[in-house]
Amino acid sequence: MDRSQLPIAVIGAGPVGLAAAAHLVARGETPLILEAGDAIGASVREWAHVRFFSPWRYSIDAAARTLLETHGWTEPDPDAHPTGQDLIDHYLAPLAATPEIAPHLRLASRVVSVTRRGVDKMKTVGRADVPFALRVRSAAGREETLLARAVIDASGTWTMPNPLGGSGVPAIGEEALRDSISYGIPDVLGAQRARYAGRRVLVVGSGHSAFNAILDLTRLAAEEPDTTITWAVRRPTLGQVFGGGADDALPERGELGRRVRALVAAGTLRVVTGFTVAEVARTADGSAVVGEGGEALPPVDEIIATTGFRPDLTPLRELRLVLDPAVESPVALAPLIDPNVHSCGTVPPHGAVELTHPETDVYIVGMKSYGRAPTFLLLTGYEQVRSVAAALVGDWEAARAVHLVLPETGVCSSGVADATGVVGAACCGAEADEPATGREPISVTVDSDTAPSARCCAPSDTALLTVGTVDVSRLVTTARPVGPLRRVSPSASSTSTTVAAREAQAHAEDACCTPTEQETCCEPSAKASCCGASPVGSCGCR
Ligand SMILES: Cc1cc2nc3c(=O)[nH]c(=O)nc-3n(C[C@H](O)[C@H](O)[C@H](O)COP(=O)(O)OP(=O)(O)OC[C@H]3O[C@@H](n4cnc5c(N)ncnc54)[C@H](O)[C@@H]3O)c2cc1C
Repeated sequence: MDRSQLPIAVIGAGPVGLAAAAHLVARGETPLILEAGDAIGASVREWAHVRFFSPWRYSIDAAARTLLETHGWTEPDPDAHPTGQDLIDHYLAPLAATPEIAPHLRLASRVVSVTRRGVDKMKTVGRADVPFALRVRSAAGREETLLARAVIDASGTWTMPNPLGGSGVPAIGEEALRDSISYGIPDVLGAQRARYAGRRVLVVGSGHSAFNAILDLTRLAAEEPDTTITWAVRRPTLGQVFGGGADDALPERGELGRRVRALVAAGTLRVVTGFTVAEVARTADGSAVVGEGGEALPPVDEIIATTGFRPDLTPLRELRLVLDPAVESPVALAPLIDPNVHSCGTVPPHGAVELTHPETDVYIVGMKSYGRAPTFLLLTGYEQVRSVAAALVGDWEAARAVHLVLPETGVCSSGVADATGVVGAACCGAEADEPATGREPISVTVDSDTAPSARCCAPSDTALLTVGTVDVSRLVTTARPVGPLRRVSPSASSTSTTVAAREAQAHAEDACCTPTEQETCCEPSAKASCCGASPVGSCGCR
């Protein structure tokens, strides 16, 4: 079989999966987009009522925009802030309906496994030459196998919320109490109003989802005065949990925290800090919630768990992936986003090089690429898929030339989180709900004189760009030519080389050539023609 004739499978028709499809189409490739839901953007639809803190200008992929414009699309006001529903109605649905994408989109098609056809994970010889086989299950349960020459997994993390239990596993009694717990941001002012009106509601977690839930509940309580709100967080103090406020380059994001801070100051809700959920139980007076220290909260009627998300790795079990042991992201990406180390919400630009795995032609992108890290922004995903599409057609020059300007959160920090997830001894606090794992931070840098540090408290260049009405002094420019990651001297807190760091380097180098090319391009004289001009001395000859 001629592998090159096969499509490139894209798992998930969310914003990043559809952007990946647009980039593939722009490069003359045929995508095969497999979406589990009955409609595109199935995960976004579950939080359709939530307003983005990013304006439209940060929410649309460049290749998607170009494609849409050829079909007479009118771009929404770049300074307006869409809701999830707006994103679907005015961007994702029109994009999915373009004649370039629609014929290649399959709805109600859940990918349950990905492997190489006829080859299990153990077999090495010839592996890279065998097509991928995706097992796809329809809503009716019918299964089939589809072949692809490469796989881009953009399936997000929304479908895999972290449990309420603060130890990463469900709290005792969590499953039994399932009908009183919502994961995510329920529509308490709309479709689910009756469930929450006049009830005692506990919100657990300290990220933007918690803020959204609290703000909506507060509005509900103003209309339904018997509604009470308790907010439980693991951190010992609220500290910088509220984010950068006026220093946030995305005003709406800063505003979320500022408004919740004001509610806390006004005593509108009960706040419980230093509380890690260990056990929940149904009692005659409602749901009892008990912490790790045996302390109990007053009983509640409903619990909203805004405790973050994790990637569903089960379908990828037969692939040779290397993931960071804590973050569960591609290993070269982890040091850039690990909330144990820093919490800027800004990352250096990255693409196919950092997202590569031992399994050739497999990329995890979008929200899922961040594993358990909470700070993913669409702009990051769009640049990832631009780079990955370039890599998949062999244009490594374009794949490596990654550019990204992310709006700063105003809470840039570095340091090592304590067991509550609080980053200490540094400029600011983490947004993460995840506790520290004891894993040592990995110090990495990039082979470029112009590269900003991956550590967010290091000096960063200030953007000289004018980006709409955003205060440009608060934007961090992270555009740079990307070279491979390399370890730098261990810092005081990082005294030993971790396996993860070594693998990060190895896989970054692997990305120069496919394994087949590596086998045939080991002579320095052959490298240039095979791999192209590469800044990596060892390209193809590790
Ligand atoms: C409430 C909320 C607000 C946010 N606000 C912002 C913001 O203001 N700005 C910003 O930049 N980012 C924001 N984000 C973060 C991020 O941009 C979004 O989560 C975004 O939807 C991620 O896009 P994605 O395509 O990676 O994943 P998703 O949107 O989660 O899409 C994944 C798709 O894959 C499908 N899928 C899942 N599993 C399978 C499978 N096995 N087989 C086939 N299909 C599958 C799902 O049904 C879904 O359609 C927000 C996130 C949330 C939750």
